[in-house]
Amino acid sequence: MKKRRSLLKSIYFCWLLLGLFIVLFVAGFFSASKEVLFVSIFVLFIFLYYSLTKLKCPSCAKSDNLLTFSRALIQPVYCRFCGQLIDIKRGVSNEKN
Ligand SMILES: [Zn+2]
Repeated sequence: MKKRRSLLKSIYFCWLLLGLFIVLFVAGFFSASKEVLFVSIFVLFIFLYYSLTKLKCPSCAKSDNLLTFSRALIQPVYCRFCGQLIDIKRGVSNEKN
């Protein structure tokens, strides 16, 4: 149960990192600031590392990309490795109620 909840948190955190990367990258690009661009690349690497280590199938623990797990929030998505339903939403609502 706890794993599923942290999976949801990981999805939100990954989107946050991705958004931060885009904002920093665009800002660095237009201001031609190498420091900001460097920080944005750094954020991108954190995002890649985090998504590879945290975004994992609850059944087989194999990592998949962020879009797969994001789709699992709104529609049934099956793991492409083990074929099990990636059930993020139900796990969370069970814990909250
Ligand atoms: Zn799986």
